[in-house]
Amino acid sequence: MRISKEAVAMTGAEVTEKELAKINAFTGRELSADDVFVFSVKLCDNEIDRDGECFSAECLKTLAELFMGKTGISDHSWSSSRQVARIFDTEVIEDYAKSTSYGDVYTYIKARAYTLKTPANEEFIARIEGGINKEVSVGCAVSQCYCSICGNPLGDESCGHIRGLTYAGRKCYGILDGATDAYEWSFVAVPAQRDAGVIKGFYNADAATLSEFVEKCGKAEFTREFELLTKQAEAGRRYLSALKADVVRLGALTELWDAESLTETVKHMDESALLSLKKSLDKKADEILPPVTQLGAYKKNKVKPDDDYMI
Ligand SMILES: [Zn+2]
Repeated sequence: MRISKEAVAMTGAEVTEKELAKINAFTGRELSADDVFVFSVKLCDNEIDRDGECFSAECLKTLAELFMGKTGISDHSWSSSRQVARIFDTEVIEDYAKSTSYGDVYTYIKARAYTLKTPANEEFIARIEGGINKEVSVGCAVSQCYCSICGNPLGDESCGHIRGLTYAGRKCYGILDGATDAYEWSFVAVPAQRDAGVIKGFYNADAATLSEFVEKCGKAEFTREFELLTKQAEAGRRYLSALKADVVRLGALTELWDAESLTETVKHMDESALLSLKKSLDKKADEILPPVTQLGAYKKNKVKPDDDYMI
């Protein structure tokens, strides 16, 4: 499944000789400290995020390796080139002074990135130095999302827990594990949009339909829910179709409607309108063909029902 998370850019110290050597290994040419602007980015951590998920310690280690050499992009138009920086070093930091909401040592991936000091990157660099470019989102892929309560895949039939809910004092959240890929990291120049949930949908925003979104998203829970809703919708369509046929039959039976025009009319009616029309047609049909009272009438007149057929 594809994962997109928020992170933070931190302005960093001056580039060291050792770092310059690592950068030059990527560029393939000899750059000096004056050619590059270097900064730090906090990519992912093990805290539970707003999606009710966190990365496992093992997952962070793998991601740290996968993010090496990955380019950072900007989704805003202020840069002529979208690829503006590259990660040349990553490190998993355990911050013993801080613990997560579930009591583990706060752990995160710290990445060092560089960008070239070119005129095109001037504004980008100024924004990082000024603390404006600090909202970062990362995109990666993981193979599993485990339940914090039972350890089974979250949302699976074997699990049954719901993220965000508390079970016997323990909160259910998803543990992202088995990192398989790191795509990119990007600066989001409009932090206000974060609360609107724009960042989380970054990789799926190009989906044209709901089914395409579910497919691209790759989340097993979404797929299962979508399949269930599809089945329910199919059952609903069958029910409505039977209801419409019933109304058309009653309309023709009571001779109040012409079958053809009623068939056209019911096409545009919803369930409640159909039920109310059916109710009135049922009533009319009972008046015309009262099965019970008719038998009563036979008794009353002392006529045997079979006499009907003895003309
Ligand atoms: Zn569970």
